Amino acid sequence: MSVRVVARIRPLLEKELDKDVIVRADAVEEGRPMTVVKIPNPKNESEEFSFAFNSVYEQTTTQEELFTAEVAPHIKALFQGLDVTIFAYGVTGTGKTHTMRGGLRLAERGVIPRLLSNVYRRGKKIGKDTNGETTVNVALSYYEIYNDKVFDLLEPPEKRTPSGLPLREKDGKTIVVGLSERSCEDLKDFERLYIEANNNRVTASTKLNAHSSRSHAILRVKVTQTTGDMVRESTASAIDLAGSEDNRRTENGKQRLIESAAINKSLFVLSQCIDAISRGDRRIPYRESKMTRILSLGQNNGITIMILNLAPMRSYHLDTLSSLNVSSRAKRIEVREIENEVVFKQPPRTNSGTAATAMKRQPLR
Ligand code: ADP
Ligand code: MG
Repeated sequence: MSVRVVARIRPLLEKELDKDVIVRADAVEEGRPMTVVKIPNPKNESEEFSFAFNSVYEQTTTQEELFTAEVAPHIKALFQGLDVTIFAYGVTGTGKTHTMRGGLRLAERGVIPRLLSNVYRRGKKIGKDTNGETTVNVALSYYEIYNDKVFDLLEPPEKRTPSGLPLREKDGKTIVVGLSERSCEDLKDFERLYIEANNNRVTASTKLNAHSSRSHAILRVKVTQTTGDMVRESTASAIDLAGSEDNRRTENGKQRLIESAAINKSLFVLSQCIDAISRGDRRIPYRESKMTRILSLGQNNGITIMILNLAPMRSYHLDTLSSLNVSSRAKRIEVREIENEVVFKQPPRTNSGTAATAMKRQPLR
């Protein structure tokens, strides 16, 4: 199991152009790739906090650049039988849905349609290269976890039971009982289903954002390769997580607070799992939330990519800081502080790569 944690800073929207930008990408030293996010200390603005990631994507990063760098390299592994899991994490309004789903225009398409497009292309190629001996089938499940309950997004809302779908253990794996799965022939087929399913997603308004998403939306793409009686199955999961904002500051009512408690718990467990995987721990606490349990996070052999979405404006200051704190793990890692020079003491290398590190930086003088 390997994990990458990367950050993506979104650009200012047209109506935000006059806003104060306080989040920026940086490199450890000149000429090196961007791996650091910098943000002022809200209690002392002359001081700056730095957070290190496996990679940091600036405001100008296009959908294609992000996909090419972070997802495309794993499609081969997916066809070799590894599971690939991609999370978008962050405060509401920072670009999670833009990153995962994106816009309708070709250039604006997000990770999910690009992933599917690549999967179909590779599937076709495999069929061709083997003279039709190997067939590739793509099937989708799409569900959301709202208030710790699982709802099938491929079914119309009328068919929902209030308690959601039950979970059951089978062969050491957690399955969602009654979750539908649809075979999708091609990209068009997928897009039709995906658009329909997205309309089924629960959204409720909060003061922060009228369409803030209060549920985790999980798309699972099952790739089945069949050659004679040999079957190879693997899954790509793309997860648009619920907003990680602190709801105590948005004057939410009781319903919002119940939602918040469920969201906070599951996001906390997720971050614990990501920590544990990145450290190479043997025990991953994936059983402690429904989302991580269903994904068997840490149990499967696979690749996990967590994308932390960030908005650069001052109005997000505290929420941004807290999401940076959650996704930059390994706070125990010491960082030497040297003026004008950022020096990382590397965390112990594991086969899962480098952990993200948080550190405090001396103010520049
Ligand atoms: P979230 O899902 O995290 O709440 P959204 O994806 O809805 O956030 O993004 C909030 C707004 O910012 C949307 O209008 C979206 O189109 C825009 N946006 C987000 N990321 C980008 C980006 N990289 N480039 C351009 N616009 C973006
Ligand atoms: Mg969203």
